[in-house]
Amino acid sequence: MRLINRPVLCNYYVTYRCNASCSFCDIWEKPSDYVTLGNVKRNLLALKKLGVRVIDFTGGEPLLHREIDLFLLEAKKMGFITTLTTNCLLYPKWANKLHGLVDMLHFSLDYYNPEKHNLSRGVNCYDHVLDSIKIAISLGERPDILFTVFEENKDEILPVYENIALPNKLILILNPVFGYNEVDTGVPLSPSTLKYLLKLGKLKNIHLDKAFIQLRKDGGNHVENPVCKAGSSTIVISPENKLIVPCYHLATKSFQISDNLETLYYSNEVKNVIKFEGRLPGCEGCTINCYMQPSFGVELNKYWFKSLPSTILYSIKKGTWKKLKLS
Ligand code: SF4
Ligand code: SF4
Repeated sequence: MRLINRPVLCNYYVTYRCNASCSFCDIWEKPSDYVTLGNVKRNLLALKKLGVRVIDFTGGEPLLHREIDLFLLEAKKMGFITTLTTNCLLYPKWANKLHGLVDMLHFSLDYYNPEKHNLSRGVNCYDHVLDSIKIAISLGERPDILFTVFEENKDEILPVYENIALPNKLILILNPVFGYNEVDTGVPLSPSTLKYLLKLGKLKNIHLDKAFIQLRKDGGNHVENPVCKAGSSTIVISPENKLIVPCYHLATKSFQISDNLETLYYSNEVKNVIKFEGRLPGCEGCTINCYMQPSFGVELNKYWFKSLPSTILYSIKKGTWKKLKLS
């Protein structure tokens, strides 16, 4: 049963450029524009009318955009919940300007071992993560550590938790890796690793959406009965100011947003693509977290029940539940 019939999240790609070159990501290879403030303002107004609650200013590396603080400020002024994930190379320079503008600030860290983290990210960013944590805490921010879990780095979770997350009273988010297109993300997470993650998810200040684990146990999305609601739960805007449907990773169609995103989103041509969300040939077995998480929240099924407890707990810890109640 569908519970929410409107988009709840916007993945706003401010640029595809990145100053890292992670082995499990191909976005940094794309040439890219940067979004403009005028378009962001117009689109935020439309997103508000469409009922979107959360804006994820993403990339690439979102802090490469020189006006990222202005986008966040606009979104906050309009009552959106904001989120941003950074590799931390530029966070120390931005910290003061971003202070108070990001409700869910995520610092990516996938290894306790500095050399391994830098190797995986293709750039020396480990020390910047540690510096960023210190700076953010000194400003009163509560960043989360976003740990992308591979089969290869599962033994690094506890050292990061015990030596970095716990002493700094930070939430450690476990983000099970997902494959897409031709990107090499290593071997799929084994059943024993999935079980291990569920065990870790019970520890204080570790956040794990159990529906991610269930979805992997079930073999991902299935085209004949899709859990994916990418296009109808999430709006994707590209750096070229295009609406991408049904998701960034499949990008079946893109539509230039001339000036009215709301009209475009409700147009028949967009609806005709959205109706194939989760049903396209590339959708079989998909576990892409960025779209599955909002999908879990809009339809009543077993994933909704699995996802709900951790979602509520996390939003209480981040203080975002108050905004969800008020908006
Ligand atoms: S930092 Fe993020 S956007 Fe950049 S290459 Fe790595 S995963 Fe991709
Ligand atoms: S199943 Fe995956 S690839 Fe298909 S629309 Fe959903 S998120 Fe995109």
